[in-house]
Amino acid sequence: MPFVFAPPAQVVVPVQDERYQFLPVNRVFGVAKNYAEPGSLPTETPFYFMKSASCVLPVAEGEIGRIPMPPGTEDMRHEIELVACLSKGGRNLTREEAMEAVWGWCAGIDFTLGDQKLPSGANDLTRAKAFERSAPVSHVRPAYRSPMPAPADLWLYVNNQKRQAGNTQNLIRDPYEVIAELSAFWELQPGDLIFTGTPTGIGRVMKGDRLEGGVNGVGTLKVEIV
Ligand code: MN
Repeated sequence: MPFVFAPPAQVVVPVQDERYQFLPVNRVFGVAKNYAEPGSLPTETPFYFMKSASCVLPVAEGEIGRIPMPPGTEDMRHEIELVACLSKGGRNLTREEAMEAVWGWCAGIDFTLGDQKLPSGANDLTRAKAFERSAPVSHVRPAYRSPMPAPADLWLYVNNQKRQAGNTQNLIRDPYEVIAELSAFWELQPGDLIFTGTPTGIGRVMKGDRLEGGVNGVGTLKVEIV
């Protein structure tokens, strides 16, 4: 074997209703401040960040994903999001090319730590965003079955209490605009996942909390903080 050690298993997101079809995950991008809603500041501009593929935890319907709270935080937050899954990539994609690049959609939770600071006082986005299992997702729904779900309701409950409710029609940049903008800096690749932002109602979670979230027409997922 030419490898020094066995290569890590490929992270995959299973395809909804297909027992043996999987979308291999490459990278995970996210966009923050992407919903225009009451309470959001008009001066806020969307910005981008990354997680690694190893942050992704696919959760089948009927199962409960276990998300360990990282050490050294007292401010772990939930963000329910529509996630685009790419089967094509490229640089400087047009909106039309971005549409062709999306193979499917899933619902995801972009778990974020609100209390991770660099010595400069700036937010430490690596710790805040890219901790293990910080990106649980539903199984992926092919775009040919469910075109870009706009308008679609997003929702999230914590211990059966509604915390987040929004609609993709309030996206500042829709998923195709996000993909086109990302591709101006990164050469996007098949398998990249794009978290497209979260609506109002972000809140803290505690160990033992059970969360259920979803994007109507796309998928739902349940997780427990451990
Ligand atoms: Mn987010």
